[in-house]
Amino acid sequence: MKHLFIFIFLSTNCFAQQKPNIIYIMSDDHDADAISVYNQQFIKTPNIDRIAKEGIKFNKAFVGNSICAPSRATLLTGQHSHKNGVIDNRTRFDSSKTTIAHLLHDAGYQTSIIGKWHLHSYPSGFDYWRVLPGMGQYFDTRMITMNGDTIIEKGYSAEAITTDAINWLNNRDKSKPFAFFFHHKAPHRNFIPALKYLEEYHTKIFPEPATLYVDTTGRGSAWRIQTMSILLDMRLCGDLKVDPEYLKEIPELKPSVEDLATYNAIMKRYPDEERKRFKEIYAERGKIIRDKKPHGKELLKYKYQWYMQDYLACIASIDESVGVILDYLDKNDLTNNTVVIYTSDQGFYLGENGWFDKRFAYDVSMSTPLLIKWPEHIKEGAMTDEMVQNIDFAPTILDIAGAKIPDWMHGVSLKPLLTENKKTLDRKYLYYHYYEYVRDHTVIPHLAVRGEKYKLIYFYTVNEWELYDLEADPGEQNNLIKNPAYTKTIAGLKEELINLRNKYDDHETAGELH
Ligand code: CA
Repeated sequence: MKHLFIFIFLSTNCFAQQKPNIIYIMSDDHDADAISVYNQQFIKTPNIDRIAKEGIKFNKAFVGNSICAPSRATLLTGQHSHKNGVIDNRTRFDSSKTTIAHLLHDAGYQTSIIGKWHLHSYPSGFDYWRVLPGMGQYFDTRMITMNGDTIIEKGYSAEAITTDAINWLNNRDKSKPFAFFFHHKAPHRNFIPALKYLEEYHTKIFPEPATLYVDTTGRGSAWRIQTMSILLDMRLCGDLKVDPEYLKEIPELKPSVEDLATYNAIMKRYPDEERKRFKEIYAERGKIIRDKKPHGKELLKYKYQWYMQDYLACIASIDESVGVILDYLDKNDLTNNTVVIYTSDQGFYLGENGWFDKRFAYDVSMSTPLLIKWPEHIKEGAMTDEMVQNIDFAPTILDIAGAKIPDWMHGVSLKPLLTENKKTLDRKYLYYHYYEYVRDHTVIPHLAVRGEKYKLIYFYTVNEWELYDLEADPGEQNNLIKNPAYTKTIAGLKEELINLRNKYDDHETAGELH
């Protein structure tokens, strides 16, 4: 009898141990083109690539509202913005809502979140949390701890929060499986890299996207009024850290008081022993401006390269951090029973249409990288072209954890695509709703429906529609809405958009669609 009891105890305990651990790593504004397993032209990211090589790469992963806070609220709830309440970066997330953290906790998981939170309220449902206030800082960032204190973590943020992550993994309750959400600040604007990577990247020259110099006049209102142009809206000293000393004699480039304040604030944050070298590198940019006085296309050419140098150097730190986490799993015999997910809160313009930032339902910003590894469950080097969306992340994680997916979640579990050799989902269209206007970047609110071949977008405050053939025109340059050959296609897509809007019950804005 005694032996039987021990046997039952051990088996139950072993069974509990076998639930997979889950590490969800999300960076901020990390476009898939800046991951080498998606695009070899810009950066080598061997550690992030390892997740794809040992697991699955999603080629068509999308978000439902391409900005920071809404994506984070969607991760927590599996819901589109209008239901989870976070429609823009200024809305506070109601932490009394049930989230994936509560549900995982109830399923026997130890839950934690470290890094960017950006939802104004404090996290709830997590057994452990330590988050950046707002966007945090790149150097010596403030962090809010669970007792509400604000502390300063010395050093570069990606490294500091990686140390926090390892500390938590070491000190966690090892009797339970864990679900750990690890959210980087980088590579969000202002793009401030670690010096070692800026040294590596500031001399590199990157290929220009085909649409870097595209003329947006004659396009719809949304294209004409947006303020996310690298040439016009990316600030030389505020964003690209060009030493203002070199700009002051060029009237059209004279920094504003605000730009000077931003520049000075950035300089102040660099570590004392590194500041001189940072300034030298950014002075080189200033000398080019002073000596060549570039304007128009030539100025854009320089700004694009400087933007990419800083942005990609930030990502080098993310890749290093992912390597530290994967090494930890290897060394602690956790690799085989841990699901690792890598994604971003959305895609990001790297010069396409001459833009930076995100927001639009166009594929560059609506898409997001998504890589998942789960040894012995997901085939190594797998790949899928099935359309998935960030509303699916919470249901997928719950399904992996063996927890019930609540029916109020909008997304579906992707587990069948991961482990059951299933190639497609039943869903044929994705829904998109962007709200935030005027600030930041003056992107007109819109609804969209994305299918495999076509995308229909409705900028409802100006009553303008756009239709793109994603197969013939993946860069979404040729609006077909007035082309009579597409009348039937447009009518069909409008119906799909109305169906999705009804399905998700999103009726408070945008008015009637006709
Ligand atoms: Ca973001």
